Amino acid sequence: MKFELTLLGTSGAVPAYSRFPTMQVLNVQETLYMIDCGEGAQMRFTDYGIRWGRLKQLFISHLHGDHFYGLPGLISSMGLNGRKEELTLFGPAALESMIRTMMPYMTKLSFEIKFQPIPQDRHELIFEDRRVQVFTLPLQHSIAAAGFLFRERQRPRSMRGELIEKYGIPYRQIPAIKAGADYVAEDGSNIPNELLTTPPPKPRTYAYCSDTVYSESLVPLVQGADLLYHEATFCERERPQAERTQHSTAMDAARIARQAQVRQLVLGHYSSRYKYLDVLLAEACQLFPDTLLGSDGGMVNVPLR
Ligand SMILES: [Zn+2]
Repeated sequence: MKFELTLLGTSGAVPAYSRFPTMQVLNVQETLYMIDCGEGAQMRFTDYGIRWGRLKQLFISHLHGDHFYGLPGLISSMGLNGRKEELTLFGPAALESMIRTMMPYMTKLSFEIKFQPIPQDRHELIFEDRRVQVFTLPLQHSIAAAGFLFRERQRPRSMRGELIEKYGIPYRQIPAIKAGADYVAEDGSNIPNELLTTPPPKPRTYAYCSDTVYSESLVPLVQGADLLYHEATFCERERPQAERTQHSTAMDAARIARQAQVRQLVLGHYSSRYKYLDVLLAEACQLFPDTLLGSDGGMVNVPLR
């Protein structure tokens, strides 16, 4: 039951030290969801052995170039590969006109692109399939921006196999029991559901917050998340710069993680001024020890609990 994040790019606006701009892929039971699409996306997919042909939904947080310049190349290559399946782009409303303007200059596309404008000023359900629900997370940045919260669907309860035989339960009744029903045996006795089944694992959540200043209003929205990605463009020494450009420091990210009591924090969107990122990690760990320094190609697996 995979729930795994791969970071394809962890750089801020200006790529440096082999770090590509922001882009990620969340793999939920082998369905891939792409989050932001920095320049060089199709190359990063190849670098890390992920097949971009499998993407069906792509989520763009805001229209600063480092978060979507990878789209034209990726879409063109999908066309060159003869893709037939529709691709849905979730993002700010203006994304549609930008991509549509470029489409005549791409090799004739063999597939449809569906544009789904997202609200950036409120927390709202924007997508669901049988694996996940996706909600927006309003961010505070120099332009309108929204992060995304991926929440796994609640699984049904699990049947205790040994009791099927013991009570002679017909297989056709099992779906109802997994959904919560008791079993009434032939002699009329009632076998309670709690005895027949075990509770499902807790649905896992992933919260993506980039780009933003420290925003306390995020805390209730990402409360208890299994994994929180929070941008950490700067360290404390550059706090004035962070405030001026509406970005966060590593400590800001850690403060959100601590207040929201998330399980794990992963940092990214590093300024090109930092070759080594130890300072950012050390500062974040002072407030929130379960912090990981995100790196290009880094994977974070979220286990069931
Ligand atoms: Zn930005």
